[in-house]
Amino acid sequence: MRIEVVTLFPGLVTEAVKAGVLGRAVERGILEVHATTPREFAVDVHRTVDDRPYGGGPGMVMTIEPTRTALRQAKARLPQGSRSVYLAADGVPLTQAKAQSMSQLPGLLLLAGRYEGVDERLLDAEIDEQLSIGDYVLSGGELPALVLIDAIARLLPGVLGDAESAQQDSFVTGLLDWPHYTRPEEFEGRTVPEVLKSGNHAAIQRWRTKQSLGRTWERRRDLLEKLQLTAEQQRLLDEFIAEQPRPDAGGG
Ligand code: SAM
Repeated sequence: MRIEVVTLFPGLVTEAVKAGVLGRAVERGILEVHATTPREFAVDVHRTVDDRPYGGGPGMVMTIEPTRTALRQAKARLPQGSRSVYLAADGVPLTQAKAQSMSQLPGLLLLAGRYEGVDERLLDAEIDEQLSIGDYVLSGGELPALVLIDAIARLLPGVLGDAESAQQDSFVTGLLDWPHYTRPEEFEGRTVPEVLKSGNHAAIQRWRTKQSLGRTWERRRDLLEKLQLTAEQQRLLDEFIAEQPRPDAGGG
């Protein structure tokens, strides 16, 4: 998969894709990431890429021309069937399902904004969709672009080994992940759940499913409401809930 990023800070993107799982994906030739700056295409001596907003008010807006040239050149380097995305605080929320469907694309053009954002007409003309990584505002779209690239890269065939399989990660099944433990067996008086040391694979799987359900119930009931639980899952969740300490009814 080839990903082109149009950004005022190309170094941020190219450095980040050298490490860890992303670095391995690039090294193996499964993923190629290229970054271009609109500044390269600014025509004045100061290489200006922003201007004051029509209507007044604080902040600047990224201008159309240099960014359009950067976008078009990047698009020309991508295979047919690629899509273009603007990372935007007011975009549609990024989900695991979206990352999954984007991982099937041959290429992706990502536009990272700065300042107050990008002239709306350029987005209308060049961008297929706008994605947000959460309900908070960052100073630029580079980190959001990297979040999207990372979420996609770990789903590309050949990037993760079996030991790190993405199949059991949070959200893949619609549930949150279960808790994980490794050595030592005891840490400051806290022990590893006995069942995980039992070697009984069916019991271990049952415990993990129950913890996944319970954790989703505790932290993200919105996710649980979207699922149709099987009778067995419902039973495990009921068990989990019954095991929780009751809130102190006495109040003191
Ligand atoms: N004026 C914009 C607003 O209120 O929605 C915020 C602009 S922000 C300071 C600058 C750039 O950061 C945006 O153009 C966008 O590319 C990026 N950005 C900020 N927060 C983001 C988020 N939660 N998700 C995706 N991109 C974000």
